[in-house]
Amino acid sequence: MTTSPAATRGAIDHLDTRLSVGGVRRDAATGRTFGVENPATGEIVCEVADANAADALDALDAAAAAQDGWAATAPRERSEILRRAHDALVARTDEIAELITLEMGKSLAESRGEVAYGADFLRWYAEEAVRIAGEWRVNGAGDGRILTMRQPVGPCLLITPWNVPLAMPTRKIGPAIAAGCAMILKPAEQTPLTALLVADVLAEAGLPDGVLSVLPTSDPAPVSDVLMRDPRLRKVSFTGSTEVGRLLLEKSAGTVLRTSMELGGNAPFVVCADADVDAAVAGAMIAKMRNIGEACIAANRFLVHADVVEEFATKLAARMGSLDVGDGNADGPRVGPLIDAAARDKVAGLVADATASGARTLVGGTVPDGAGYFYPPTVVTDVPPSARINREEIFGPVASLSVFHDEDDAIRRANDTPAGLIAYLFTRDVGRAVRLAERLHTGMVGLNRGYVSDASAPFGGVKQSGLGREGGSAGIAEYLETKYVAFGL
Ligand code: NAD
Repeated sequence: MTTSPAATRGAIDHLDTRLSVGGVRRDAATGRTFGVENPATGEIVCEVADANAADALDALDAAAAAQDGWAATAPRERSEILRRAHDALVARTDEIAELITLEMGKSLAESRGEVAYGADFLRWYAEEAVRIAGEWRVNGAGDGRILTMRQPVGPCLLITPWNVPLAMPTRKIGPAIAAGCAMILKPAEQTPLTALLVADVLAEAGLPDGVLSVLPTSDPAPVSDVLMRDPRLRKVSFTGSTEVGRLLLEKSAGTVLRTSMELGGNAPFVVCADADVDAAVAGAMIAKMRNIGEACIAANRFLVHADVVEEFATKLAARMGSLDVGDGNADGPRVGPLIDAAARDKVAGLVADATASGARTLVGGTVPDGAGYFYPPTVVTDVPPSARINREEIFGPVASLSVFHDEDDAIRRANDTPAGLIAYLFTRDVGRAVRLAERLHTGMVGLNRGYVSDASAPFGGVKQSGLGREGGSAGIAEYLETKYVAFGL
């Protein structure tokens, strides 16, 4: 095992990097492992057990065996497990933040924020676990009664991406535990460490054996295939790219699996002529730079009214250009590295394509020398709508600016994408805010703010950005089936 100096720090020293199969820590069936890289240095920080299809079936055996007993636990018991796990995550914030930064790259300050955000899903669903309710009604003819109940869907496969290694798992695990579902979590191959730590925290909080397995793997398709073909699995909840989501939807047809899909975005950020430009720039810094731009809800296309575009572009370029780029594990707010060389090459390619199409670079745009996958905060303007940077998810710290002239123009261009996750809208006119928010084809709108994520909100998209919602009351419904009993009198 090759170990970087950073790997000797806190969390990783005590982390068990074997699989968690039904609560039991063990090596992969093949004995194989794969390396986890620190994107700030390109070094392998540790080796993790590499699950295959046999391990996946063991995990499903455990989930299926645990399901009925788990579904029958008192809601208050499930609630208290979640609450204890929330408290433990918060108490271990610094250590967990180090782990997130080590395997994903964002700054420690941002990783601490992710711990708070991720833990909050466990707290929210601790509160929801005791509020699952049914319905009792008189039937239409009056000669019977209808009892409607909500029951756990059953064993679930949870597949998560690398960009938010703690909160993407907890956003699924929280409602699944509250609902009484057993789970198999397959974290992204780039960030399995935080997911394994979550398994430890939940076990310490009292989660019974069998209810949660965590299966890191370097080869996800055989693991998900064997599970999704098995009729004992009842649901797949996926967060990741639209391309993989589509593939999983096709596979779900075989056993008619329930699916929740949180997929890619291409968020427009609309700045109207009447906007508070300073507030729009502040919102843009969050919507663009949070998570190094590696977020499905990152602002992707800045559509700015002709009257304010110059002021907005100048101020945004100044703020973006003043950011410090470097290893997220150092102190202070910083723009960390992208996840890998392919991600950095993609971002550089999109900027090159935009400039070749006539865009101007206001700041950034040059890949730095040295180790790690860093890309500087970059602003390009006068970007034609047809440029690839406006059609593809950038997933990096690049703001692409174009001008619009009236509301219809803004809406037409904002909606001109197969994605429909989120839009940001800056205006001081309440009527315009309502009109535009209603006409945007997205699941979420940030109105005069660049941050919308909240455990209490129904996060999710329309069109090719996904199916279903995570967070809030809608989030637990994804893990519940509805059944009714018709009573004769
Ligand atoms: P990805 O689709 O490549 O991978 C996501 C997960 O799917 C990983 O765990 C990966 O191992 C797994 N996977 C890949 N191929 C698979 C297969 N054939 N079978 C089963 N599992 C497979 O996406 P990524 O690069 O890890 O993440 C970035 C994407 O995630 C972006 O498009 C981003 O917009 C999206 N995302 C969406 C949300 C949301 O809530 N809508 C949140 C975060 C990220």
